[in-house]
Amino acid sequence: MAEKICVAVRVRPSISEESPSGTFWKIEDNRISLHKLHGTPISGLSYAFDHVFDESCSNSKVYELLTKDVIHAAVDGFNGTAFAYGQTSSGKTFTMNGSLNDPGIIHRAVNDVFQKIQMISDREFLIRVSYMEIYNEEINDLFAVENQKLPIHESLERGIFVAGLREEIVNNAEQVIKLLESGEVNRHFGETNMNARSSRSHTIFRMVIESKGIDTGSGDYSSSDAIRVSVLNLVDLAGSERIAKTGAGGVRLKEGKYINKSLMVLGNVINKLSNGAKQRAHIPYRDSKLTRILQTALGGNAKTSIICTVAPEEVHIEETKGTLQFASRAKRITNCAQVNEILTDAALLKRQQLEIEDLRRKLQGSRSEVLEQEILKLRNDMLKYELEREKLEMELEEERRSHKEREQRIRDQQLKIENLSSLVSDGDRSSSQDSMKESPKDECNDFKTPCFKETSNNAFVAKRSNYSELPDFSPLPDSFSNVADEDTWFKMNKGYIADLDSLQTTPARKAQSFPPQDITPDCSNDNYKLELQNLKTQLELVIKEKDELQRKHEEEVQINRRLMGEISELKQELDLSNNSLESSAQRYGNLEREFQKLKDERDSLLQTVSESSKNITFLTDQKENILKDLNCEVQRRKDLEAEIKQFSVAFASRQRSLASIHGEFKSKIEKLRAENLVRY
Ligand code: ADP
Ligand code: MG
Repeated sequence: MAEKICVAVRVRPSISEESPSGTFWKIEDNRISLHKLHGTPISGLSYAFDHVFDESCSNSKVYELLTKDVIHAAVDGFNGTAFAYGQTSSGKTFTMNGSLNDPGIIHRAVNDVFQKIQMISDREFLIRVSYMEIYNEEINDLFAVENQKLPIHESLERGIFVAGLREEIVNNAEQVIKLLESGEVNRHFGETNMNARSSRSHTIFRMVIESKGIDTGSGDYSSSDAIRVSVLNLVDLAGSERIAKTGAGGVRLKEGKYINKSLMVLGNVINKLSNGAKQRAHIPYRDSKLTRILQTALGGNAKTSIICTVAPEEVHIEETKGTLQFASRAKRITNCAQVNEILTDAALLKRQQLEIEDLRRKLQGSRSEVLEQEILKLRNDMLKYELEREKLEMELEEERRSHKEREQRIRDQQLKIENLSSLVSDGDRSSSQDSMKESPKDECNDFKTPCFKETSNNAFVAKRSNYSELPDFSPLPDSFSNVADEDTWFKMNKGYIADLDSLQTTPARKAQSFPPQDITPDCSNDNYKLELQNLKTQLELVIKEKDELQRKHEEEVQINRRLMGEISELKQELDLSNNSLESSAQRYGNLEREFQKLKDERDSLLQTVSESSKNITFLTDQKENILKDLNCEVQRRKDLEAEIKQFSVAFASRQRSLASIHGEFKSKIEKLRAENLVRY
């Protein structure tokens, strides 16, 4: 459905202390207009947009009102782009990156995407991110400093893409934020004056969101097979002031030595697009890397929002006007966004499907977070491998192309050499022929010069060495074909033997073998001599040229050989990386087996533990019974002790009574004894 690009203007808080002396920008609802100090509006300088945010507006509000819809649509499968345009220090980076207290559009978008996909339970998502910078018309990877000057490619399957750009598959917002931070560090890499750089470079943070309906087993395969792929670009553009400064006014020309080509082309593209359908025949997207990358976002299949940041200070009025004009033109652009559903292997989700399913099966029963981590690792490994392969393929393709070009050059040179050779032999022949013409016939009768046009009567004897190849054209008359009946020829030519090898390949020697005095001993004609001399010098020059070409040809052949070697090395490298992938798959398999073994061990240990605990319960029961018995015994012992005590008390009293009886008895015996004594 055709829809207009959403455009907003944001005015940053004033930095200068000075109060306006002549004019000021006034904001009313969605309109911004330049007013004179006492309040009257200046005609022709009033602009209306989808939103105009004043200096008190937070990033959160900007996100809610301007960008949120684009982000949500991206999760639903629509391409989306949000970019900030404006002069340096007008608040682009503040809007896109934000501050600690008020995160910018990128952070909010990332959080929002993950929050949103968590709420969608019937679809499976795969998100990957990349981060690049366009600086001096060169694309650098902010996730991998070694990836510099990357080319833009286009394919039917992938559309327009930056070849060799690192992509990371991510599972949550925190991961993305960390990656972004590392990207920022890379941006600072090797650059001392960051402000100068950031005002000349564009950064593009890109999220590719793929999603697929989860197969609920309803049998509706067609819907679950289609994969939605959307690309979300969040762009912080370079400062726009250079265009104005180097433009018609050219006030500060010396400042703007470097014109940011991308921004100029962006302006052109927006101008053309805003002119309406009639003049949209040719849009110069290809004139800059930025517009090429943002092609779908500008007048194509995407939902786009532009935030134009402006500075309120009077010194910036000209720049602000420029920005507002850019914004007004952008407002007129219509895009045509639709959900991108594909069935081909272009979707990573689809390409990785089998491997992931395999891994899932293998790790069945593992904890879900372990599984998630393993899947993420596998996905990233596979993606890295794919990107690596793509890079190698590109290099190989490049090599092939230059190899072909070199071969073509060599062929051209060979052709040139051949032409020259034949020219030399022609020259040689014709010079001899000329000499024939000019020499008096009767005098020169003994010596006939080889000549193709001559009839058999004037033919010469051809002596061929064993190695000499037959020339394409035969120097022999047709009637004799190539079969040299040397005797006949010898007779016919009165003993002159021509060495065909020297004739074909070493014309210099040939020239020497026909010294003018030999052929035309009596022809001392000055003109003739001069001409011959000329021809000789020409011949020498041509020979030199031929030698030079031959030398070059040999060099080329050598380069070729070296390149072939390099190509085969590259192929070997590719094989090596294939092997290492295989070995890591093997390692993974081994780990898998170890994991299984450990799991088995754990299970058997668990069983032993449960058996031991059963034993323990049994023993505890026994112990309790024994304790009970013991208590009974103790009680019995106590009872016995009490009985013993009673008995000993009784025993003691009996003892005492016995002692007293014994005493009495004794005393009675004493008494009786005494009585007996008395009696005697
Ligand atoms: P740009 O990226 O356009 O060159 P910056 O975003 O770096 O500009 O902004 C320049 C300065 O102005 C920064 O210090 C930034 O914090 C401040 N700034 C910009 N916009 C706002 C805003 N809306 N609110 C508060 N401070 C802002
Ligand atoms: Mg900036």
